[in-house]
Amino acid sequence: MVVGCGPAGASAAAACAERGLSVLIIDRKRSVGVPLRSAGYVPARLRRRAWFDESCILQAVEGFRLFLPDGRTARAEAPGYILDRTRLDKTLTLHALECGADLANGTVVGVSGPKVRFRREGREAEVEGGVIIGADGPRSAVGRAIGATQVECMVTAQAEVGLRVPFSAAEVRFDRQCIGGYMWFFPSGRTARVGVGVPAPHAGSLRGLLSSFLGYLSGEGRIYREGVLGYSGGPVPVGGLPSPVQSGCALLAGDAAGCADPVTGSGIYAAILSGTLAGRMASEALSGGGDLVGYRRALERVLRYKTEALAGRLRTWEDLGSLAERAWRVAEYEEEH
Ligand SMILES: Cc1cc2nc3c(=O)[nH]c(=O)nc-3n(C[C@H](O)[C@H](O)[C@H](O)COP(=O)(O)OP(=O)(O)OC[C@H]3O[C@@H](n4cnc5c(N)ncnc54)[C@H](O)[C@@H]3O)c2cc1C
Repeated sequence: MVVGCGPAGASAAAACAERGLSVLIIDRKRSVGVPLRSAGYVPARLRRRAWFDESCILQAVEGFRLFLPDGRTARAEAPGYILDRTRLDKTLTLHALECGADLANGTVVGVSGPKVRFRREGREAEVEGGVIIGADGPRSAVGRAIGATQVECMVTAQAEVGLRVPFSAAEVRFDRQCIGGYMWFFPSGRTARVGVGVPAPHAGSLRGLLSSFLGYLSGEGRIYREGVLGYSGGPVPVGGLPSPVQSGCALLAGDAAGCADPVTGSGIYAAILSGTLAGRMASEALSGGGDLVGYRRALERVLRYKTEALAGRLRTWEDLGSLAERAWRVAEYEEEH
């Protein structure tokens, strides 16, 4: 059973179903990939890990311009794509269905011990048995049920705006105004995703910061100020893996396992990697060829580049720019070796 049908859940379900397991994905949302809660950047190497076609790509970017708090700028070579996240989530889910998984959306889940309760259209049911993969985001019900520490998050606000001119690089600004957070400008074809993230205690400042960043971009002639096409946002994990990420027959993947990394833009990538790993280990355990106890270690290995970045002082924002660049380099190295 997979709780959550984002990139982590869909990848976990596909990995189980293609090994012949009976898989049910449950999501409380009625529509896969909606509402949009992402700026959509993925490193180009994701294409080696997950299949998505050109129609998911809004624009290719060559890397990032980083604006550091002391006024310096840096370039990080991190070729990637800005994706249509809704389309990506649907593509990954379709792949899971093609492999044989079932999807029950519009279904709310509660977990207590090994039992999972569903509520759909006023009716309730309870099941027990098999493996539960919690891919239900940073406020994971599965995580709570296994006593995992809460995933530490930044809070974010994002606007999609019309671009006056095209851009080929994304930007991340570690601005002093942001009180230990950051701002981003990700071009996505004719529009851009413009956002702000701050540590949770400063959530009250988000709206003002986003508004002044939009004002700045409009003053530079980049965007249509009076034409915000939509707002979104949400929590982004920043504190690394919670403890535990596995207990009994339950595993956590994606944001539920604290995998996202806002600075390296690896939330989606890490969700796909960790979901696939969880699905693979669940299949091996259920077919008698493995156990789930080694999941944390395997997850740390898969996300090594990120753990290394976090082991530095990722939250000391003077170092964020260079750490981000280092993390990208380590990721490339890991891929090649
Ligand atoms: C504003 C913003 C910008 C971002 N930009 C980027 C970016 O540019 N690049 C990047 O890589 N990452 C980015 N991220 C992070 C990225 O979106 C996440 O890391 C990614 O979505 C994690 O995937 P997931 O499958 O773990 O979780 P999610 O995509 O959050 O999916 C979890 C699913 O679980 C469901 N669910 C939750 N609770 C329950 C329950 N009790 N019962 C049933 N279903 C439940 C939810 O409905 C949801 O569909 C951004 C995040 C935000 C908020």
